[in-house]
Amino acid sequence: MKRIALLGSTGSIGTQALEVVSAHPGLFEVEVLSAHSNAALLIEQAKKYKPNAVVITDESKYREVKDALMMHPVKVFAGPSSLTEVVQWESVDMVLGAILGFAGLKSIIAAISAGKRIALANKETLVVAGEMVMKLARERGVPVLPVDSEHSAIFQCLVGEDLRTIEKVILTASGGPFLGRKPNYLVNVKSSHALQHPIWSMGAKISIDSATLMNKGLEMIEAKWLFGLENEQIDVTIHAQSIIHSMVQFTDGSMKAQMGLPDMKLPIQYALAFPQRLTNTFKRVDFKDYPKLTFEAPDYKTFRNLAIAKDAMYRGGNAPCVLNAANEMVVDAFLHNKVGFLEMSDMIEKTLEKVPFVAQPTLPDFERTDAEARTYAAEFIKKSQLSIY
Ligand code: NAD
Ligand code: MG
Repeated sequence: MKRIALLGSTGSIGTQALEVVSAHPGLFEVEVLSAHSNAALLIEQAKKYKPNAVVITDESKYREVKDALMMHPVKVFAGPSSLTEVVQWESVDMVLGAILGFAGLKSIIAAISAGKRIALANKETLVVAGEMVMKLARERGVPVLPVDSEHSAIFQCLVGEDLRTIEKVILTASGGPFLGRKPNYLVNVKSSHALQHPIWSMGAKISIDSATLMNKGLEMIEAKWLFGLENEQIDVTIHAQSIIHSMVQFTDGSMKAQMGLPDMKLPIQYALAFPQRLTNTFKRVDFKDYPKLTFEAPDYKTFRNLAIAKDAMYRGGNAPCVLNAANEMVVDAFLHNKVGFLEMSDMIEKTLEKVPFVAQPTLPDFERTDAEARTYAAEFIKKSQLSIY
């Protein structure tokens, strides 16, 4: 029985993780649930899954959660610092990091420091501080099991292999809702359109990141640190059907691909149960439905975020942290129709020019960099034509 702290339980990954937990009652138990501001859903989940504790990080919602759970044997905490405390509890075996963005970093570091197994969906943690996080995990002998479908695919391809025999990894990308589109079309797209992903149903932020291809850029950096790769060993291919979730090419020229229908419950289940492979009744791939699997090079000129992210990966240091902070800001602004689709790349690039480079950042450096980048990005957003009118 694994006792799980599920951070970000009210999100797209969080709710699907709870479905996986429900399907295997003898294997997993929910010890902690956390949400930022969706008190109603957190309360409902607490009543159903009966965790030892819940954390609502938005302190203004504390009373609402506390009052609703008064008659239930659930401890209620509020604020981000409670997260870093509960993940270290003796009673927690594994932490599933499904918080969105930079906000997920500290609790993962705390959990690894306390020797907890990690199932990681929160890719921004590795984008910002992958080197530090993976070093800490190695020191503590803690596995970091990827939940992101591409990285789960690579991980599954690598089981039983010597990591030194990796020649390269090939991340697949669906291409998002604007595959094949050019700047003259993209200049006018709205968030409602960008949110309509052709294949995956996900949270709002990652849906926009998929439309701009920033998601694939973040995933390149995530792969670098998870699997200890050189920048040159990471490739991206557009594979619109999303049946191959990623591939590994080995030093003898052999390639392995992991395939399946696009359903996040699969990589979530794999990470939670590893090294076991659990039986389920999810729909299976039928190749009659996929007579053609296609591959094409990404359009770096139109989807500039991918090129900008790749460049930040090569620059290293705090550059990916700046990239991530600026991206979180502009995506939020785009979701509120305050900046245009193509403007997002300009603003991220300009923020990267502004924030001073730090070659070997510490955790306080990351916090400073994140705050500084957000301040610059906020200024650029304010000056956008869409913000003004
Ligand atoms: P979401 O927006 O649906 O959910 C985010 C969760 O994090 C919610 O529970 C929310 O309460 C919590 N949260 C948000 N801001 C917070 C804050 N400041 N402090 C504490 N908690 C906060 O997001 P999602 O789509 O589930 O994505 C979660 C993470 O998983 C992201 O890092 C994303 O990149 C990654 N991921 C998601 C998918 C997917 O299919 N949705 C796939 C791969 C990776
Ligand atoms: Mg992914």
